[in-house]
Amino acid sequence: MPLTCPQCGAQNPDNANACFACGASITGYAPMVQPYHHINQIQQPYGQPPSPYYGTGGKEQNTMNSGKRIPSALLALFLGGLGVHKFYLGYNKEGVILLLASVFTCGAAGLVAFIEAIIYLTKSDEEFDRIYVQGRKGWF
Ligand SMILES: [Zn+2]
Repeated sequence: MPLTCPQCGAQNPDNANACFACGASITGYAPMVQPYHHINQIQQPYGQPPSPYYGTGGKEQNTMNSGKRIPSALLALFLGGLGVHKFYLGYNKEGVILLLASVFTCGAAGLVAFIEAIIYLTKSDEEFDRIYVQGRKGWF
């Protein structure tokens, strides 16, 4: 069975290694494709880097989070003059002071609580815990 040259289509004897008409390699034709395939495999881009935290939903990094920031801010906002957010955070002395101050100022001291509520809301949970839960900062 004669070999057909892949380059020019000439019929060559079945023991030919190269085309008699154009000189193209006949038996070596297929192997010549392989190096390209090999290179492509090496140059394949790496897969996307693994995404951290997706598996746990990011909860693991919040082990220090007391979850008291939003409740404290809401208590300060709505019941601020009564010092409830102070008691909630364990600041009993400050809570009493704020409560008495509100009584003596006819509620004007509630402005202090209102400002504190805004401050709480501008902090991150981490900052809030560091300053008010661990740091024991009584005012603002
Ligand atoms: Zn040929």
